[in-house]
Amino acid sequence: MDKKLLDKIIEESFQYYKKGHVATYIPALGRVNPEQLGIAVYDLENNEQYFAGNAETSFAIESISKVPVLLLAIEERGLKNVFNKVDAEPTGFSFNSILNMEINKRTYPMNPFVNTGAIVINSLINGKNSDERFEKILSFMKLICNNEHLTLNQEIYESESRTGDINRSLAYYMKANDMFDGDVEDVLDSYFKQCSVNVNTIDLSNLAAVLANNGIAPWNNQQIVSEEAAITVKSIMTTAGLYDESGDFSTHVGIPAKSGVGGGLMAVSPDKFGIGVFGPALDKEGNSTAGMKALKLLVEKVGLNIFE
Ligand code: GLU
Repeated sequence: MDKKLLDKIIEESFQYYKKGHVATYIPALGRVNPEQLGIAVYDLENNEQYFAGNAETSFAIESISKVPVLLLAIEERGLKNVFNKVDAEPTGFSFNSILNMEINKRTYPMNPFVNTGAIVINSLINGKNSDERFEKILSFMKLICNNEHLTLNQEIYESESRTGDINRSLAYYMKANDMFDGDVEDVLDSYFKQCSVNVNTIDLSNLAAVLANNGIAPWNNQQIVSEEAAITVKSIMTTAGLYDESGDFSTHVGIPAKSGVGGGLMAVSPDKFGIGVFGPALDKEGNSTAGMKALKLLVEKVGLNIFE
């Protein structure tokens, strides 16, 4: 990897923020400055990190949290038990849609990266209440992002919780249809918290580097998650990581990635690079406009398309 290349990618992609808008359905996200773009790359070959632009700016992890929480649930419960509760199919519907379950008469959520699936996955984390589950989730995020200073963004959390009625309706729908046990409000509380952890692109590149390295943290060679869990998560990122733009992204970019409405993107180049990107202006599907452009340029310039 090469710092100059990343600088050039930021320069070429930055203007794409004009094609998007910051998310406003969570009011605290609506106050973020859209004119930002940052990238960080963890290079497994030499164990070095390279960054450019707003790489060190903090933002809410949002849906990218669905990756570490799924990994933690798999570690705690085993792959088979987790996928007895959640499917691994792309939905073709937006991330917070109830329609896919209603139309298909599903008995469990279609994948762990839509909100219904993520709420069920959160409920699987061992802990007797929201505080205990969130404490475990935050410690695991610190471990896999290699940053012991990760914290909850209180303002985002309160904003999510206050305005989270769609998530409430999804959770009550699931509860009424026996898709999960437990207290809806308590599970939602730890779900809102997992989405409201502040990260930067360097943290995301570390998380991605563990996945790229089949579950082993490259900075200390510790096996953080099983190879099987890392492979499973990368494959779901390929089919369902970018909301209902996942098919397009796989076809035209070709790298496993997960986005969040805070503007983050986390992408994995297997055996090579862990990549974190941040650009808060989003397209209508909820993906960072400048961030996706930057990722596409990086994949093309370095030849990282996994299908090539
Ligand atoms: N907390 C957000 C929600 O549940 C996460 C959405 C996202 O990043 O996709 O609505």
